[in-house]
Amino acid sequence: MKKIDNAEILCVGTEILIGDIVNTNAAYISQRLASMGINQYHQGLVGDNPERLKKFLQEALDRADVIILTGGLGPTYDDLTKETVADLMGKGMELHQPSLDRLKDFFVSRNIEMTENNVKQAYMPIGCIVMQNNCGTAPGAIIENEETGKTAIILPGPPREMKPMFEESVVPYLEKRTDSLFVSKNVNIIGMGESKVETVIIDIMRNSTNPTVAPYAADGEVRLRVTAKADSKEEGEKICFDMIEVLKETEVGKYIYGIDTTPEKALIEKLAKNNMKIAVAESCTGGMVTETLTTVSGASAVLDGSVVSYANEIKARLLNVSEGTLASKGAVSEECALQMAEGVRKLMGADVGLSITGIAGPTGGSDEKPVGTVYIAVSTAKRGKCEKLNIRNNGREYIRKVSTKSVLMLALNSI
Ligand code: ATP
Ligand code: MG
Repeated sequence: MKKIDNAEILCVGTEILIGDIVNTNAAYISQRLASMGINQYHQGLVGDNPERLKKFLQEALDRADVIILTGGLGPTYDDLTKETVADLMGKGMELHQPSLDRLKDFFVSRNIEMTENNVKQAYMPIGCIVMQNNCGTAPGAIIENEETGKTAIILPGPPREMKPMFEESVVPYLEKRTDSLFVSKNVNIIGMGESKVETVIIDIMRNSTNPTVAPYAADGEVRLRVTAKADSKEEGEKICFDMIEVLKETEVGKYIYGIDTTPEKALIEKLAKNNMKIAVAESCTGGMVTETLTTVSGASAVLDGSVVSYANEIKARLLNVSEGTLASKGAVSEECALQMAEGVRKLMGADVGLSITGIAGPTGGSDEKPVGTVYIAVSTAKRGKCEKLNIRNNGREYIRKVSTKSVLMLALNSI
């Protein structure tokens, strides 16, 4: 496909048209296009009406190289963007099995029945590039028409789904189709929310055109994507790292745990550097922490092993959690988490013990300990530390993932 000169944004949604919601998607995408040197001469907004969408889109395709659409990707009858775009791009639809599998997992993890209209979300235009939705259910798509040279990119409407997909899938795609060289670094942040991060660095964001700095939330953390336009990779990296130094000087600085990394990678590197070994005791995550750690090559040098102590009896027998604690405080308690972390550390002869115990739901919650109540703890020879998490009840899988990430962060900050 040829290089891109210009793009058009086309947002779909009657709520935007009648002013119920502000079109922040268009603002976000416009800024990102400008930073990539992609021109924009028109911008569109259309209600949830397939006929009018078709007309708008046809006009946009006559003008621009790339059309970026947001909204109308959901499962309901009024979500017609994908079908309409595919039709105009001359593509039929086919079932995309990996997306269907992801959808099924999503519904199973939330204990909700998957209805027939949800399957619709797994039908994708034939031959398109499917973009996985890491923050929701509807996948996005990049649809290229070789004959006309036009490209349509469809994204979900909710900004918290649109932004990560844009940064993770669309930006790398667009960068490849421009003449300029871009270098990007992701600054990983945990412990400060997206809007707070944005408030702290808003002046830096506004005053910087090269590199650009764009915050977005994904995978339970906030990332700042720093992108430099440069003549060489080295120059681009220098521009990015100079900006990262500036960001580290702000209030956000102490929440930055790495660059282009993950908590598991950062933790394993730190353990290796300190010559330390770790052991894990998991309850509600059922092995997810250990699984996550072992995705990193080099884990064997620092991970001793783990105990999945689902039953109270195992917590007591293998991890030495006291019967008194289990009887009076329960398995989901600070005391139990601390004893589990200490117990597994001693059992394995490790330097650091980690533990997780909580209520991942959907059942098992109470007024006192609602679904999403999770205790995470770390134990070293010197001390034990526990944190209570009140995780938003976005489903079992979400709670387990956030718990996993949080305990890795706790360990990272404690050694
Ligand atoms: P869903 O699966 O939630 O239906 P969708 O891809 O079909 O997602 P829409 O139904 O068009 O998207 O929009 C869902 C919500 O996302 C809207 O109610 C609104 O809150 C938000 N949203 C959609 N478009 C925009 C936009 N352009 N700017 C800001 N927010 C938007
Ligand atoms: Mg919708």
